[in-house]
Amino acid sequence: MSIKVAVLGAKGRMGSEACKAISAAADLDLVAQIDIGDSLDLLVSSGAQVVVDFTHPDAVMGNLEFALKNGINVVVGTTGFDEGKLSQITGWLATQPQTGALIAPNFGLGAVLMMQFAAKASKYFESVEIVELHHPNKADAPSGTAARTAELITQARRSVNKEPMPDATSSALDGARGALVGEVPVHSVRLRGLVAHQEVILGDLGETLTIRHDSIDRTGFMPGVLLGIRSVVTHPGLTFGLEHFMDLN
Ligand code: NAP
Repeated sequence: MSIKVAVLGAKGRMGSEACKAISAAADLDLVAQIDIGDSLDLLVSSGAQVVVDFTHPDAVMGNLEFALKNGINVVVGTTGFDEGKLSQITGWLATQPQTGALIAPNFGLGAVLMMQFAAKASKYFESVEIVELHHPNKADAPSGTAARTAELITQARRSVNKEPMPDATSSALDGARGALVGEVPVHSVRLRGLVAHQEVILGDLGETLTIRHDSIDRTGFMPGVLLGIRSVVTHPGLTFGLEHFMDLN
């Protein structure tokens, strides 16, 4: 039996791609395409089992409250989640023990793998730095993906008590050594012609390892969105990060 899916933000850049990908999947049934001004009641009347949200950080919490209180699983790509918002979601889920919520800061399977590989590798190298490269219209620096990668690397290094990274810099122009996220220097490049790219460079005596991911088009997020939809229906409770639905051992 196919999974009935609704998309919120269906006219947006990500939402419209998600509608195409869901329509093309034989095991999924796109039952509602909802955008600003449409009633959320459509989620219930369409019989949606999963709602995918690609709207706006200001709108997403209201959408999630409605969906979760009606026992509808959610797959969320909209950004801007902090601890406070996550605990609010956990509260709504507590009243619906069969319902699942996936919050995925990045649906790119390659991007998720890049973050996981980088964290694993960082236990074995003395030093690691991140260079993220994006189009010049991007508002935030460093990117959320780079910040998350740096946090994962920092956790991994601390778990094996790595020594601080050697750096003899005694004078530097502001920003020359990047921004420190956790223990990791992150360098942000903004250039026309770029889309979204990231390199994690690891170094130790006599060798370096570079892990690079390139996001070229929004279609690259769709295999991750479909994986999220198929997985959330069998994973009640809150899941933060698509890596939890991937076999990474
Ligand atoms: P977008 O093109 O602006 O699309 C958002 C759509 O949602 C618009 O059609 C918007 O309508 C609509 N909308 C706003 N509030 C709504 C509401 N209350 N109910 C229903 N629809 C509503 O943005 P986008 O580029 O698709 O990005 C959407 C979100 O996904 C952003 O937070 C972005 O950062 C995030 N994102 C996540 C990933 C990931 O992998 N997790 C990847 C890319 C983007 P109006 O235009 O009329 O306001």
